Amino acid sequence: MVGHTEFPSQNGGATPQDRRFGTLAVHAGSPHDPTTGAVIAPITLSTTFAQTSVGNPVGLYEYTRSSNPNRDNFEQAIAALEHAKYALAFSSGSATTAVVLQSLAAGSHVVSVSDVYGGTHRYFTKVASAHGVHVTFSPCIEVDVEQLIRPNETKLVWIETPSNPTLGLVDIEKIAAVAHRHGILVVVDNTFMSPYVQNPLDHGADIVVHSVTKYINGHSDVLMGVAAFNSESLKERLTFLQNAIGAVPSPFDCWLAHRGLKTLHLRAREATTNATAVAKALEASPHVISVNYPGIDSHPHRAIAIKQHRQGMGGGMLSFRIKGGQEGAHEFCKYTKIFTLAESLGGVESLCEVPSSMTHAGIPKDQREAAGVFDDLVRMSCGVEDAEDLTADVLQALDKAVAASKQENGTA
Ligand SMILES: *Cc1c(COP(=O)(O)O)cnc(C)c1O
Repeated sequence: MVGHTEFPSQNGGATPQDRRFGTLAVHAGSPHDPTTGAVIAPITLSTTFAQTSVGNPVGLYEYTRSSNPNRDNFEQAIAALEHAKYALAFSSGSATTAVVLQSLAAGSHVVSVSDVYGGTHRYFTKVASAHGVHVTFSPCIEVDVEQLIRPNETKLVWIETPSNPTLGLVDIEKIAAVAHRHGILVVVDNTFMSPYVQNPLDHGADIVVHSVTKYINGHSDVLMGVAAFNSESLKERLTFLQNAIGAVPSPFDCWLAHRGLKTLHLRAREATTNATAVAKALEASPHVISVNYPGIDSHPHRAIAIKQHRQGMGGGMLSFRIKGGQEGAHEFCKYTKIFTLAESLGGVESLCEVPSSMTHAGIPKDQREAAGVFDDLVRMSCGVEDAEDLTADVLQALDKAVAASKQENGTA
C-alpha cells in the first residue's frame, strides 16, 4: 500500500502543511502518470494485478477490494484536506458509519447527539443494537456527555455539527476534552460543512466521517463515504474492516469524487454566499417564523461557528419555519422553480425538502418536535447558481405558498 501521507513529488516535494486548501484540493493525491505523463489519472478498472512470482506483485496492488490506485489517490487527497494522516473510502456514507460502529466490541456503548442523520439514527437503533452495541442519544450533549459516559463501556461519542435539519452546532473541543479524559474517541460527521469549512480533527476529534455523496463529490452523481483520522491503531483496524467487510467504492466513483473534490473550495464559498443571501431574505419575510443558519448573527450558536468554521462561514445548508403549517411547507416546495424538491444536499444545484414528511418521517412526531423538526420546517441546500436568482425564487414561492395554504385552511 502506498503511504497516504505522501505528497506527489512532482509538486516539489512540499509537505501538505505548506499548501493552502485550494492548492491541496487540486494537487494532493494527483500524481502525473509516470509512464504517459497524463495529468489526470486513468481509471484503473482491473480487479486484479499481476505478480512476477508468488507474493510479488508487479506494483503496489494485488486485488481491487484491498486497494486500488483511484481509491488511494482520493484517500490521499481527503487526508490532506482534513489534516489527517490517513483516510479510508467506503461505498457510501452509511457504510462508513457501519464500519466505524463495527470496529467496536460487543457490549460497547456510544453517546450520540440526538438529531443525527436519519440513516445514522436507523443504524444506531436497529443494526448496532443487534451486534450488542448500544447508543444513548442526547439532545444537549455539551451539558450531558459527562453523565452519560458509562465507565469501561462507553467507547465512542458521535457528533454531527451542524445537525440535520436544524443546523444546531456542537463545540467539538469541549466534547473532546471530556471524552478524552475518559479515554473515549470522538467521531464527527462533517458532511454538512465539508473539509473546506470545518476540520474537526483540528478541534480534537479522533475520526471525521463524510457522506462523500454530498459536498465532496458535489455533483449529485456518486454515492460514497470516507473516514479520516491520525491514529496508527485506527488505521490498522479500519483498513482491516474496509477489506474484510468489502463495502468499498468503485474505481470510477473514486475518480469522479476526486474530480469533484478539486473544486470543493470554489463550490463551498459560492454555496455559503448564496445561503447567506437566502437566509437574510427569509429572515426579512413576513411569511417566515424563524430561520436556522449558522452563518448569520441570529443563530444561537453563532459563537461556535466563528470559532470552528473557516472565517465563520455558514455553509450551504439552512432551514426555516414557514407560516401556514405543513401545508405551507409542502406548497413552498411545489412553487420553487430553481430549488428542486428532492432529498440529499451539497450538489451544484439547489434543492429543498420538508424533513417531517421526507428525510425525517421515520422519527416519531414527539421526538422530532423536541429536536425542532416541526411540520412547517423546510430544509434548503443552496447550490452554486446566482444569489439574486435564488432569493427571487424563494420570495415568489413564499408568496404563493402562504396564499395557497391560507385558502386551504379557509383563513383567506
Ligand atoms: C447523506 C448523509 C449520510 C449518509 O450518507 P450516504 O452516502 O447517503 O450513505 C450521513 N450523514 C449525513 C450528515 C448525511 O447527510
